[in-house]
Amino acid sequence: MAIGAHPSDVELHCGAALARLMADGARVTLFLCSDEGCELSCSPGGGADRRREAGRAAAVLGAEEVVWADADAGAQREETLMRQLVREIRRTRPDLLLAHDPTNWWRRAADSVRLGRADHREAGRLALEAVHPRAAAAHFFPELTGEGIAPWLVREVWLYDTPDPDHLVDVDPTWEIKVAALACHASQLPARLVEEAAADAQGRATGHGRGAEGFRRLCLL
Ligand SMILES: [Zn+2]
Repeated sequence: MAIGAHPSDVELHCGAALARLMADGARVTLFLCSDEGCELSCSPGGGADRRREAGRAAAVLGAEEVVWADADAGAQREETLMRQLVREIRRTRPDLLLAHDPTNWWRRAADSVRLGRADHREAGRLALEAVHPRAAAAHFFPELTGEGIAPWLVREVWLYDTPDPDHLVDVDPTWEIKVAALACHASQLPARLVEEAAADAQGRATGHGRGAEGFRRLCLL
């Protein structure tokens, strides 16, 4: 499972790694916390456009499904989002979960610094708090257990968009898939997204090719 604060976050930061995992047989669910944009421009068609674009991008990547956070939660948004995250983790039973690094206040990018976003950190924090202890312990959201959705402990978390990567995935084998997925986000100036992705990968260069996506790897089991 990969969790993104907005459409295109997942493709931008871990699209190549997800495509490699799927080439190796993984099945992937994308969970998107919002259909609003964080990027460079607003879509004239709003959330409906973003949902269509995200659906196309997920299909290009090879993801099995896209799950959207409940957009009508209002003041109960955090509690509702947490319940949804726990439900989806328990339902899909992922071995590996990818999420924003909640500690990213800033990170180095080429010769400048890129500031982190509050909604990215929030999505990352909620993802980690959902993984442990809420998805794993039955006394959280007992109504889910009553529905037959059993607790689940994720084995491993990879935090993306991280200032402190300790695990690199070479983007070369699946770069074209990542670019094709980013191109689906037509309302978000996809050429700029590809430019940003290329600069990020180069900044995490492995010594050859286009570089790498970087993760903070947390092994829980
Ligand atoms: Zn975002």
